[in-house]
Amino acid sequence: MRPIKHIHGDKKPHWVGDGFFVKTLINHLEDNPDFNYSHTDPFLLFDYGKPTIFSPNPDYKLHPHGIGLHPHKGFETVTIAYSGEISHADSTGGRSDILEGDVQWMTAGRGILHEEFHSEAFGQRGGVFSMVQLWVNLPSTHKLTDPKYQSIKRADMPIVDLIDNSDAGYQDTDCQNSDYQTVIGHAAIIAGDWHGISGAATTFTPVNMWDIELYTTGSTTLQVPETHNTLLLVQEGQVLVNGTAASAGSLIEFSAPIPDHVDAQTEHSSLPATDTIELTYLATTNEDTPIKLLLLSGEPIGEPVAGHGPFVMNTQEELRQTFRDYQIGNFGK
Ligand code: MN
Repeated sequence: MRPIKHIHGDKKPHWVGDGFFVKTLINHLEDNPDFNYSHTDPFLLFDYGKPTIFSPNPDYKLHPHGIGLHPHKGFETVTIAYSGEISHADSTGGRSDILEGDVQWMTAGRGILHEEFHSEAFGQRGGVFSMVQLWVNLPSTHKLTDPKYQSIKRADMPIVDLIDNSDAGYQDTDCQNSDYQTVIGHAAIIAGDWHGISGAATTFTPVNMWDIELYTTGSTTLQVPETHNTLLLVQEGQVLVNGTAASAGSLIEFSAPIPDHVDAQTEHSSLPATDTIELTYLATTNEDTPIKLLLLSGEPIGEPVAGHGPFVMNTQEELRQTFRDYQIGNFGK
């Protein structure tokens, strides 16, 4: 089992514009005893918006809740709508609504300007709003790629069964009877690979993003590549993760992969393989809501990062040039 390094969650929430009330659970600009970007690379930043009730907004057309036009460069933003809806518009002419259960995977690449607001339908009716925005770094070879976005509907994502561990053992024996398998949940494969099943999103480096729901008691085991940095968000409910209890709003950071040179030295030692994550159902917020989790894993890019605000480049000179380009209006073109 991959050991847990730290559980991020004890952060003060803040507003992004006037529409997104989020806790920044990790941020590549931080360097403190609890966080080291090389252990989450390629995941730069993780904003978690816990379920928050918004009143209907009668002034929506004049004053929608959210954040107006702003730039990004050098990475990708991934937005997941758990409850509520987000409207996006950008300088490439792209425009879409992210509805409940949908994901938008936006590649800022060489530069984009965009705005993010509550959708008009959600703004007018109000209700519970909960979302995640994740920043995924781009390798230097793709930093200046054309900006684009992938609008990924829930129906586009392959859905796989999560089998209870007490039954899964039968798969490894002569008994092939699937009647012995108890499904305790499902995973929607937003991106990456699940035992040969490809996720809906296209990525520039190997990244897994699995949206997980557990409906009933039991334990199930995820297989994550040993070479990937790995994070797990608890979005709803309470769960045991490799034997450690975690509740909604927690982002679990697993120990970084063992580097290759250490591998060679310890090849014959008794170190266990660190590639499984066991999830055990504990409790839900209410009986109608499953436990919800988001598994992220990614091959570390391993390049220097020079970031400030909405820009993430490799060198300070590239970062200075990006600010100059933005100030003279030569950006997102
Ligand atoms: Mn943005």
